[in-house]
Amino acid sequence: MKVLKFGGTSVANAERFLRVAEIIENNAKQEQTATVLSAPAKITNHLVAMVEKTVAKQDIQTNIYDAEKIFADLLAGIAKALPNFAYEKMKKFALNELNNVKQLLEGIRLLGQCPDSINATIICRGEKLSIAIMEELLKAKGHEVTVINPVAMLIAQGDYLESTVDIVESSHRISEMRIPSDNIILMPGFTAGNEKGELVVLGRNGSDYSASVLAACLRANSCEIWTDVDGVYTCDPRIVPDAKLLQTMSYQEAMELSYFGAKVLHPRTILPIAQFQIPCLIKNTNNPDAPGTLIGANVIDSSTPVKGITNLNNMAMINVSGPGLKGMVGMSARVFSAMSYAGISVVLITQSSSEYSISFCVPQTELYRAEEALSEEFYLELKDGLLEPIEVIEKLAIISVVGDGMRTLRGLSANFFTALARANINIVAIAQGSSERSISVVVDNDVAVMGVRVTHQMLFGTDKMLDVFVIGVGGVGGALVDQIGRQQKWLKNKQIDLRVCGLFNSKHSVLNRDGINLDNWRDQIKQSETNYNLNGIIEFAKNNRLLNPILVDCTSSSDVSDKYVDFLANGFHVVTPNKKANTSSMAYYLRLRQEAANSKRKFQYDTNVGAGLPVIENLQNLLNAGDELIKFSGILSGSLSFIFGKLDEGMSLSEATKLAKEKGFTEPDPRDDLSGTDVARKLLILAREAGLQLELDQINVESVLPAEYSQGNIDEFMAKLPQLDAQFKEKSEKAAKEGKVLRYVANIDGDQCSVKIEAVDAEDPLYKVKNGENALAFYTRYYQPIPLVLRGYGAGNDVTAAGVFADILRTTSGKIGG
Ligand code: ADP
Ligand code: ASP
Ligand code: MG
Repeated sequence: MKVLKFGGTSVANAERFLRVAEIIENNAKQEQTATVLSAPAKITNHLVAMVEKTVAKQDIQTNIYDAEKIFADLLAGIAKALPNFAYEKMKKFALNELNNVKQLLEGIRLLGQCPDSINATIICRGEKLSIAIMEELLKAKGHEVTVINPVAMLIAQGDYLESTVDIVESSHRISEMRIPSDNIILMPGFTAGNEKGELVVLGRNGSDYSASVLAACLRANSCEIWTDVDGVYTCDPRIVPDAKLLQTMSYQEAMELSYFGAKVLHPRTILPIAQFQIPCLIKNTNNPDAPGTLIGANVIDSSTPVKGITNLNNMAMINVSGPGLKGMVGMSARVFSAMSYAGISVVLITQSSSEYSISFCVPQTELYRAEEALSEEFYLELKDGLLEPIEVIEKLAIISVVGDGMRTLRGLSANFFTALARANINIVAIAQGSSERSISVVVDNDVAVMGVRVTHQMLFGTDKMLDVFVIGVGGVGGALVDQIGRQQKWLKNKQIDLRVCGLFNSKHSVLNRDGINLDNWRDQIKQSETNYNLNGIIEFAKNNRLLNPILVDCTSSSDVSDKYVDFLANGFHVVTPNKKANTSSMAYYLRLRQEAANSKRKFQYDTNVGAGLPVIENLQNLLNAGDELIKFSGILSGSLSFIFGKLDEGMSLSEATKLAKEKGFTEPDPRDDLSGTDVARKLLILAREAGLQLELDQINVESVLPAEYSQGNIDEFMAKLPQLDAQFKEKSEKAAKEGKVLRYVANIDGDQCSVKIEAVDAEDPLYKVKNGENALAFYTRYYQPIPLVLRGYGAGNDVTAAGVFADILRTTSGKIGG
């Protein structure tokens, strides 16, 4: 004997019903088969909603309409595929059942409330219909069918909405039925009867439990739970798409996983089959050939000591504490018997070792009753101050790590907690299952999904997900997006899932939480009709529970850089070539770093100085290793490197500037370069990095141009520039006579910073730097008298974008989730 159970999605429509019938037939060819069915997907939700809304005096028309339509389409579809299906009979049957539901609802409306007994008879109607339809379908295919009426045969105790089946009594009753061995057996899930013969249900999702109970009653050889995934995964695949499929797991592991929230199995499913050592297979109706997951007694799989990570949301934690607890015998027994008496399930317990407090979690929906029960039980102790007022924390979730192998695995909890800490998730409480098969933590509801993801990433070493939002997709930003598009596959092989979730220019934006297709991103952004709003990006990342959102600011705007603090505070890493943040006030500079530390996020700006050259990182490494900056000199502007290099070759200042402009080396207005402000900003960033507390106006800047050149438009300026040629020619020739060349140099000397034209000799590391190259010479305690010199292209979209790309990847270094 074999028991099969098909869940709601497996019987969602006519096509799937027919497929299920085929699976039943194939199995019945091998051995006698009993099948348990759920209601078609969504039906139970509609029925539950109808009851709740009727009590709340709300309209239920759409629920009725949708439910009727599901059955009408289902029956019509089956009739079309199977002409001798008893279509009219079933249509009438379905209509009757739904009319009966409507009558009951009308009664509820008049009464203003719904007794649990009536509620139970309404919400299990979908199962009843599923079985009636399958019975006719199999009969139409020529099979003999026996339907087990669960109200008469599965005898259960408990309340109407959450009962537990008595297997001994039910086995007895079913065996009395003497079902012919050639019959296909069917039974509606979710449903049972109490000793009075009234209908009860087994709790939401309870058809799995019906199946395991039936398997136990029939002493079946196996029990198969057919659903919409290939088996049990290490995590809910909807939360972690790259969760791993488990081949096997023990009964205890399955029990613990389902208890702590793995929806693929109802928590009570395992006990009956474990009791009779019946192997249980989880299979996919949409992929019947996949092997599935085997749950059994002797299936020790030591290759995966951790089997899964789950979350249970909507919990509340109650804390009972006070001097009265210490050493007082029987206090915890009283706490928990009060809960048990009130019929409240306690999901998790922690006790402080000082015995001063007991904390436990109950479902949020039970909180009110739990508080009432405790106030009643401890009325005197509370009044006399032996207990402190009962403390409650709401909106919590439990994240659990489950696996038989955890008992012997060292460092697992350390990894679990590290993962959560790095994602900046606060742990409210910790509990270890007494079997050492599970560890659970209590966290805020809002961060539960993220917690599961980071833990999975840490324990299973799955892909690191980076969710990038690029603001400003012109030169550098555009090159960056192209580079990411080319590298995505390569990174994926290195287990980095780099997705661009948002692209923004000043007018348009494209957002996609699963990552924008980068093949045609330019068209997408052109065609988009939405405009961006910085706060909207934060909301978007929150709503979609992105694990590692990264703001990449490729603008030069201070409107964006002024918001970095908000982004960091909201869990974003910030990566940018934009110098505005690091050169704004010292106060903002420090706040940014403080916020990044608080939220354990990274602020990466290596491209602020020297574009793609690894300047900041090297400087930080030196300082971290205890080195000290004594002196710095550098050429920090590509355009000025080019222009001054040309002066050595005898070109005039105006010609060199014109050429640099034509080659695109300068800003559109070359005065932005020649004024020296941009170099001063870069120098300020270096100086601050080295520990100097300076503002931009404390840097001595000698502009290449006299003040009056700032007037007029670009053309007027270019026309006037030759007037300076003679003066520069003279300076340059004078330098040449001394064996020197002119360079536009940024200096740090002690706490003095300056930017000016200097004549440097052949010994100087800047002597040969021209043609747009940058050079940075760091004279430090370790590097002197020969300095550490970094040289190379310090401008250009591609090199800068590559530097930004490297910064994006640095956000993951040594970290998961943050
Ligand atoms: P059915 O209607 O067949 O009873 P359910 O929706 O109750 O199906 O359960 C199957 C769903 O359980 C899957 O679609 C999946 O999203 C969810 N699920 C949660 N945790 C896990 C897990 N660890 N492994 C597999 N599926 C899981
Ligand atoms: N139909 C019921 C529910 O949705 C039982 C089940 O499908 O397991 O809760
Ligand atoms: Mg289910």
